[in-house]
Amino acid sequence: MARIDRIALPSPAPGTERHLVVHRFGAAGARPKVWLQAALHADELPGVLVLHHLAARLQRAERDGGIVGEVALVTLANPIGLAQHVGGYLVGRYALDGAGNFNRGFIELRTLLTDAVKDHLGDNAGRNVALIRDAAARLLDQRDPLDESDVLKLILQRHAVDADIALDLHCDDQSALHLYIVPQQSAAFGDLAARLSAAAVLAAADSGDVPFDECLSRPWWHLAAAYPDKPIPSDACLAATIELRGKIDIDDALAAGDAAALFDWLQSRGVIAGTAPAAPIARCDATPLEGVDVVKAPGTGLWVPAIAPGARVAAGDTVGTLIAAAHPGDDARTVLRTRVDGVLFARASPGLVRPGDRVAKIAGREKLPDRTGKLLGD
Ligand SMILES: [Zn+2]
Repeated sequence: MARIDRIALPSPAPGTERHLVVHRFGAAGARPKVWLQAALHADELPGVLVLHHLAARLQRAERDGGIVGEVALVTLANPIGLAQHVGGYLVGRYALDGAGNFNRGFIELRTLLTDAVKDHLGDNAGRNVALIRDAAARLLDQRDPLDESDVLKLILQRHAVDADIALDLHCDDQSALHLYIVPQQSAAFGDLAARLSAAAVLAAADSGDVPFDECLSRPWWHLAAAYPDKPIPSDACLAATIELRGKIDIDDALAAGDAAALFDWLQSRGVIAGTAPAAPIARCDATPLEGVDVVKAPGTGLWVPAIAPGARVAAGDTVGTLIAAAHPGDDARTVLRTRVDGVLFARASPGLVRPGDRVAKIAGREKLPDRTGKLLGD
């Protein structure tokens, strides 16, 4: 049976206390170590169902002695956000106390680590990896935040910082399945994307504001670049964000299929004993996050989308219409178009939008000159 850790967060108000619950499969300390979490944005729930299905498979594998590594599974990574009900709706992307986006502001370790290991690296890759993991853990152990959200982020980062594999399960508004990765890891994640039948894989070395996956993956290739004469694998922590379609795509059959794909991929990475089935042909290659055409509403109005998530579009195609609802008539319609050839992988739900709202995202192959700075929406 899984070992269960129940980690207390600091009490935000008298008489209340929240906990993070971690289920662990396999022997403590075994490698590869895997960290899987869902619902860091607390109102993005398809991943909770996927991990429910995956846990059942891991339980069966553990009964058969088939878990080689150690798998930590957090089905609800954000107990703070889960309590944020407003007007009958769960709002889980931002902390309502002003602490910001729950998937931004993790601790950027790359420069700190570069200094910490400078005089200690050797010529053995395995020893360098162990040294860097120890140094990262010590750097995080020196932090002592007070704010409940900062404590939660530190706990998640501290538990995952020495993982070989870390996957953060999210979803978009209305969306086809897609992944965010760093380009240095596109080969390893190409296989996972194929198994998940991903419609897009978006690669960026630094998307801005340090989301969870990048706080884990980025230090490694940064260190490899900083010390090219030392053996440091840039993929010592494979970390990605998986967007499991749209918010309403909570479906047993879909989730069971996704869990099977994750299980097979973990088996192919040596986490689970046995031979994984061959991956199918990938639906897409990785494309640059700087190549995503983010179509924004030019004004307020009723957004009426025209393209289903996952469909291919060409530059100039209509992706939807904005209706200036306060001024009905022929001239109230503004057609919104994409400027790239690619896959429309996500869109806003139909409804009222405000100026600047992101209503459609299309994965193009070429970097767009104006896509600089923070590449993700906040
Ligand atoms: Zn999210």
